[in-house]
Amino acid sequence: MRNVIIAGNWKMYKDLRETAELLDGLKSLLKSVKPHVTAVVCPPYTSLALAAEKLRGTPVRLGAQNMWHQDEGAFTGEISWKMLKSAGCEYVILGHSERRQYFGETDELINAKARKALVNGLLPIICVGETLAQREKGVTSQVVSAQVKGVLAGLTETDMAKVVIAYEPIWAIGTGKTATPAQAQEVHHTIRQLVGEMFPTHVADQLVIQYGGSVKPDNAAELLAQNDIDGALVGGACLKADSFASIVNASK
Ligand code: PEP
Repeated sequence: MRNVIIAGNWKMYKDLRETAELLDGLKSLLKSVKPHVTAVVCPPYTSLALAAEKLRGTPVRLGAQNMWHQDEGAFTGEISWKMLKSAGCEYVILGHSERRQYFGETDELINAKARKALVNGLLPIICVGETLAQREKGVTSQVVSAQVKGVLAGLTETDMAKVVIAYEPIWAIGTGKTATPAQAQEVHHTIRQLVGEMFPTHVADQLVIQYGGSVKPDNAAELLAQNDIDGALVGGACLKADSFASIVNASK
């Protein structure tokens, strides 16, 4: 059985007071999680140190929403792996569609970020996904496959044991439109098959592939029951302790 990872992407929500409130709620609801399940929260940078303190001794892990691909330097407004690690992060989301759309991130840049994260002991959650126009044109599989090849280029088998891929159809993010379990399963299967062609089969078999796009407490169990869906990347529904906790507990 593959591990299940449920990660909450807080995006640009929650100041310090709100962070404390949400994490206090989560702490009381997630005192324990199933042994094969990992729950991760990814607050904004300003809340990371506080979150690390609040989550000490709980099963909930900490992640960031992005990072730059160089160690340090004159990169105003950016953040490094070292800063994230010193704030207590174990995970980092890379290549979220909002980063691709609003900040021009390419597969090549995301690949550079993933390599930097891996070499320095951060676990990357790498996002891929098609637009509505691409889905309607029938090119979902080609688009997602090209992204997967690009973001994983040059990674080793050892790297792959630490990588999580999040399939997030852009048309389902923040829209309330979820991919049906069958639609999501089809793309997850394509990703796993492709990874099996790029790496030895056991790498593909062990790879955690999350689904993201309007995952809510009432649709999580059905999505997570699919063969190739091993977790969720959750936006809106992770901003309330009870809904995030119920998604964490919905996993197979
Ligand atoms: C996301 O931001 O990664 C996401 C999936 O958002 P939502 O759950 O709100 O669709």
